[in-house]
Amino acid sequence: MIPDGDSTIYKTLLESTKAIPWQIDWKTLRFSYIGPQIESLLGWPQDSWKSVEDWAARIHPDERDSIVNFCVAQSQSGVDHEADYRALTRDGEHVWIRDVVHVVRNPAGEVESLIGFMFDITERKQTEQKLLALQKELESLSFKDGLTGVSNRRMFDSILEAEWVSARRNGQPLSVILIDIDYFKQYNDAYGHVQGDACLRQVAQLLNAAAKRSRDALARFGGEEFALILPETDANSAMTVAERCIHMIFKAQIPHAASPISQLLTASLGVGTIVPAHDDDAVDFLERVDRRLYAAKEGGRNRIVNA
Ligand code: GH3
Ligand code: MG
Ligand code: MG
Repeated sequence: MIPDGDSTIYKTLLESTKAIPWQIDWKTLRFSYIGPQIESLLGWPQDSWKSVEDWAARIHPDERDSIVNFCVAQSQSGVDHEADYRALTRDGEHVWIRDVVHVVRNPAGEVESLIGFMFDITERKQTEQKLLALQKELESLSFKDGLTGVSNRRMFDSILEAEWVSARRNGQPLSVILIDIDYFKQYNDAYGHVQGDACLRQVAQLLNAAAKRSRDALARFGGEEFALILPETDANSAMTVAERCIHMIFKAQIPHAASPISQLLTASLGVGTIVPAHDDDAVDFLERVDRRLYAAKEGGRNRIVNA
């Protein structure tokens, strides 16, 4: 394969690259060559790579079978291929390898040997894994409201959908409370936007404490509007939670000198409860609760409307 006069150049080139060249004779399944660099990469001496069994034994057990099966099948059908796997090092660690394999045939078209290069892709894999972790974090962030840390509207929609299905299946009541801070525009005007943000964070904390069961879910529904989803909660219990919300906001004694109705921050609440039937729609239900919130505003604010 290699012209005689040039063979030293080729050998020098092959053995000085970072990629590790190798050749396996297909009939005997034995290595006819592997670059000496393999020892510095994995620790196993060059002459310890005798047959494909040595190669297979040095693949991480988690992917050993699938990699070996894949490579054998590709080679048998004469298809060039590549595979990423963790190669075990002599000292018990592993290195991510990309093995790029070319199938060499004789003039009759039969598979004669496999030649390939092993590339150390550990760094690339680590980057990939870091990116994957970042992506996960991003996903979790995109379900969270950045200001208050509670679920955002998107998460609210997902939770409501899941709880709606569960309530319908189990014939259980599902309650939703919509909470809107009274005269919050005036609060911002009086105290500034930074204080307004701090106030929203505090209210989120108070509401979180008002709903005590583990499946209760608080979300920031919009600007100064929050929503509580209360699974397996009937109208009476929902009313108790709503009263607790009002009480906890009152107890926090957040000054709101610009409020026309009080010297303290207050909120208006709409409450609804449903045992969803098959022809009920979550969006309609939510609209009914929103109309009650509106009625609480119209009725003078700082109150709960639940019918
Ligand atoms: P109402 O009693 O009828 O609810 O009146 P309101 O002023 O609370 O309601 P309105 O919808 O008129 O105004 C909501 C205000 O909430 C206006 C907006 O600037 C403020 N707001 C919305 N999102 C944020 C936020 O993220 N931070 C701050 N500081 N203010 C916000
Ligand atoms: Mg509002
Ligand atoms: Mg408001």
